[in-house]
Amino acid sequence: MQLGLYVHFPFCTNTCSYCDFYKERYEQTLEKQFFHALRIETELAADDSAIQNAEIVSIFIGGGTPSLVNPDLFADWLSLLKRHFVVGDTIEFTIECNPESVTLTQMQVMRELCVNRPVFGIQSFNTDTLQLLDRKHNPFHSQRAIYYANALGFRNFGVDLIFGLPGQTSKMLAKDLDQLLDLNPPHISFYQLTVEEGTPLARRVANGEIALPDQELLLAMYRGGVEQMSDFGYHRYEVSSFAQPGFECKHNLRYWEGGDFLGLGPSAHSFIQDQRFANCADVHTYISSLQSGKLPRVIDKSGNEERMTEAIMLGLRMSQGISRSAFAKRFGVPIEEKLDREQFNILVESGHLIPDKGNLRLSDEGIYLADEITRRLIK
Ligand code: SF4
Repeated sequence: MQLGLYVHFPFCTNTCSYCDFYKERYEQTLEKQFFHALRIETELAADDSAIQNAEIVSIFIGGGTPSLVNPDLFADWLSLLKRHFVVGDTIEFTIECNPESVTLTQMQVMRELCVNRPVFGIQSFNTDTLQLLDRKHNPFHSQRAIYYANALGFRNFGVDLIFGLPGQTSKMLAKDLDQLLDLNPPHISFYQLTVEEGTPLARRVANGEIALPDQELLLAMYRGGVEQMSDFGYHRYEVSSFAQPGFECKHNLRYWEGGDFLGLGPSAHSFIQDQRFANCADVHTYISSLQSGKLPRVIDKSGNEERMTEAIMLGLRMSQGISRSAFAKRFGVPIEEKLDREQFNILVESGHLIPDKGNLRLSDEGIYLADEITRRLIK
């Protein structure tokens, strides 16, 4: 069996205004306790008969701010992982990095540990925008991080860029992308800002202190961004994911295509043999549960109907769409049975939905509206 592995490193040194990922303030002692628990979790997970002797085909260390990690603790955990699972030395191995915390030494150590895909959370090159997001880095940190990646010979690396920010114009976004494309990253995640409830940014928007771009401007920004990246040889393979040929993120493709993956660390999700489960989103509970020999998991009881909806939602976000035969093989029914026939016809006629022979996919016009179209399509 093949598995993708996600590890949630739950520590940051600050809180960004838009962030609703699970994280705690970084503390060395807590990090040590976290790694101790992670080692126990890895051993317990490896005992599970469903994944015993599984081959790990991609690793993604996300967070939080994984670039803060203590390399010795990380290396110890990695060798334990390799004792329990088959892990090749050339698999895609990603680590998320915040530009300000990237050092040459740290990256060198990561490279020696076979990490081969750093992803830098650049978000923007505009200093005011970065301040509004409460990011700690500045454009110099971003450029320096990419310089290090190139200097150390990381052929594959990614960057994250956000659009749809308060006060952002199409011109500002084009300038951000110009600067980014100059750095020639093999992979770009181009996200629209979402204002998550309960975040400081949501409060400022609700108070009327700051305003978000309207829908028309958002669409213009997205289209402009896609065009700019495509002029530089990037192809879109998912609504927010753009890559130079051959540099698509294998780990994320596994999520979108319904492959098995194991999630370790607080708040991490897993999907194994059609069973979904999630770890508790609290590092203290996570540690105490594992110290008493118990996996901190909650099983997701949703069934086949939810899985089908999810497969359609994720599949339509990808440029290649959903393979009809793979869907039928997985769920035992043709995809059309799950779709509203009237909406299907309307969307085909309007050119948003393309029913190719093998795949069902969205057009360039449709893909930006993938979530809304899925809601309309599902019966
Ligand atoms: S660094 Fe990442 S995880 Fe940490 S607060 Fe900022 S956005 Fe959230």
